[in-house]
Amino acid sequence: MERFEQLAKRLEACCPGLELRRQEPMCGHTSFHIGGPARLMALPTDREQAVCAVRTAAELGVTPFFMGNGSNLLVPDAGVERFVIKTSGMKTCTIEGSTVTAECGITLARLAVQARDAGLTGLEFAHGIPGSLGGAVTMNAGAYDGEMAQVVTGVTCLNADGCVEEVAEFDFAYRHSVFSDGSRMILAARMELAPGDPAAVTARMDELAARRRDKQPLEYPSAGSMFKRPVGHFAAALIDRCGLKGLQVGGAQVSEKHAGFVVNRGGATCADVLTLVEQVRRRVLETTGVELEMEVKLLD
Ligand SMILES: Cc1cc2nc3c(=O)[nH]c(=O)nc-3n(C[C@H](O)[C@H](O)[C@H](O)COP(=O)(O)OP(=O)(O)OC[C@H]3O[C@@H](n4cnc5c(N)ncnc54)[C@H](O)[C@@H]3O)c2cc1C
Repeated sequence: MERFEQLAKRLEACCPGLELRRQEPMCGHTSFHIGGPARLMALPTDREQAVCAVRTAAELGVTPFFMGNGSNLLVPDAGVERFVIKTSGMKTCTIEGSTVTAECGITLARLAVQARDAGLTGLEFAHGIPGSLGGAVTMNAGAYDGEMAQVVTGVTCLNADGCVEEVAEFDFAYRHSVFSDGSRMILAARMELAPGDPAAVTARMDELAARRRDKQPLEYPSAGSMFKRPVGHFAAALIDRCGLKGLQVGGAQVSEKHAGFVVNRGGATCADVLTLVEQVRRRVLETTGVELEMEVKLLD
């Protein structure tokens, strides 16, 4: 029996409540709506199931890929021979005083609203980022002068052997954290917020949402900003300067509204996106001398 089937059978035996999907099309799990099947996907709804999935995979020498909302992911068209653990079912959140502790799969939108409803401020910046808490901590997601580094004070994770670890040093940098190497699964994070007026928090969220709607091509599937911000520049401004807005390969297009976004105009493949990205990188390098680096993660 090949090892993914062996893993599936073992998980079915030792963790009967864990939802498993074989050959699961990833286009249904990514905000780009792109991607072929993952060989095996597990969808844990609590910590015990996550521990079982990671430990059993480790016993069989399978390295899992952890995903949240798939809003920063690009998956090859042919699919991936991977064991994907999707965390969106793990979403409990408790609030004590100004401390918020939540499981990895909760969406940032939900988290920000729950914090607001408890009279707390500090997560307004995250409300419009379409990711999960685990993805946001991994990426040190940020917007409008806020980033996860400002609020996260503790993370509970699983190491590669499936043992629980408490982490207090995060090595946060621009779109980077100690979790960026993908070896550990974030189970939950603790955040320290401040007392705030819910009406003022709502007003700030509404203002930021309006700015997003105004500037970003939210009407098309995408994975947000395609490129990291190069030191001293803005990727979108460089791409725009090279006249690349609207450049299209197959169904993938440099957004006409925001040059930093690559959007799926319909039927885009991963190959379309990667070809377009290469064309953009080459033209920007030739014209401006600046090398663009992809922010979106390519699952391989
Ligand atoms: C329209 C749009 C707007 C966006 N705007 C912003 C923005 O303003 N600012 C910003 O920073 N980003 C933005 N993004 C990108 C994206 O939403 C963020 O990077 C987000 O943090 C990704 O979270 P996710 O749950 O979707 O992660 P995924 O895409 O599922 O995964 C991203 C990375 O996190 C890892 N990961 C996810 N969950 C876990 C876990 N539990 N344990 C360990 N590793 C994990 C994955 O392995 C992967 O490396 C935008 C995306 C879109 C589509």
